[in-house]
Amino acid sequence: MPLDRTGIPEKPVSRIAPTPSGYLHMGNAVNFLVTWALVRSRGGALHLRIDDMDGIRFRDEVLVDIFESLEWLGLDWDTGPTGPDAFHRHFSLQKRRGFYRRELDRLRQKTGKLFACACSRSEIKKRAPDGLYPGTCRNRHHALIPGETAMRVQVPDGTVIRVDGHAVNLSQSFGDFLVWRKDDQPAYQFASLLEDEAMQVNFIVRGEDLLPSTAAQLYLADLFGMETFGRCTFVHHGLVLGEAGEKLSKSRGAYALKDMREAGVAPAKVWKRAALFLGLDPESVDSPQDLICRTSL
Ligand SMILES: [Zn+2]
Repeated sequence: MPLDRTGIPEKPVSRIAPTPSGYLHMGNAVNFLVTWALVRSRGGALHLRIDDMDGIRFRDEVLVDIFESLEWLGLDWDTGPTGPDAFHRHFSLQKRRGFYRRELDRLRQKTGKLFACACSRSEIKKRAPDGLYPGTCRNRHHALIPGETAMRVQVPDGTVIRVDGHAVNLSQSFGDFLVWRKDDQPAYQFASLLEDEAMQVNFIVRGEDLLPSTAAQLYLADLFGMETFGRCTFVHHGLVLGEAGEKLSKSRGAYALKDMREAGVAPAKVWKRAALFLGLDPESVDSPQDLICRTSL
């Protein structure tokens, strides 16, 4: 189904945000192309943000793959790193840890809704077979201690968040979710939200598998009183599947962009897939620029 384009800001500010933990695949590429085409067709601004907060899973060869893939796809961006060296020097999110930590303390004081949690993953699993946090530490008043406790936010039963035409029951999909990890790093939801707000992002394109994640971020944004993110337009697109209808994984293989390049596949294959998501005839698209001019028709 083509995307609903109503509600896209007149001057969209958006980002493409790959993580350097697994090789980019067709699904990532379609998401980037759709974001890029919608932003460019309206004269908006596009950031490239490489989310390396999860330092443990960072891989240099995957960082290189991100830049090679974006070049192969013919994508450009207005702000962000131009290559791996610039990324390490100026744009690594690891340098932003102090900012995230200060924001955590601010949110904690402002809302009173955060609590430290000492539970291990196996303890949570034992108490809650559905995997949802059972609220064990909500009133235990633990301190936040690196290596010993994480920080969660309370999500009361019946919390429903409306996003992109869907009603997401956040208490049933995420429960009291993590904002700060036991290894003293921000959780993905929290760091991503802070970066989007800092960049004044007002338009985000995501796969529909991330609807609960968007709901969690909107919930936090509301607690924080974040003006820009709270008014952000979200477009969630259907999942990009393989030719046999299979889910794409992060592992190498037929749909990893690196393997496609090495097998001599032309990027037109990906442009044409993106065209379908934009409601365009793939046959009319032979360059990424075709995605822009036809999208603005
Ligand atoms: Zn706990």
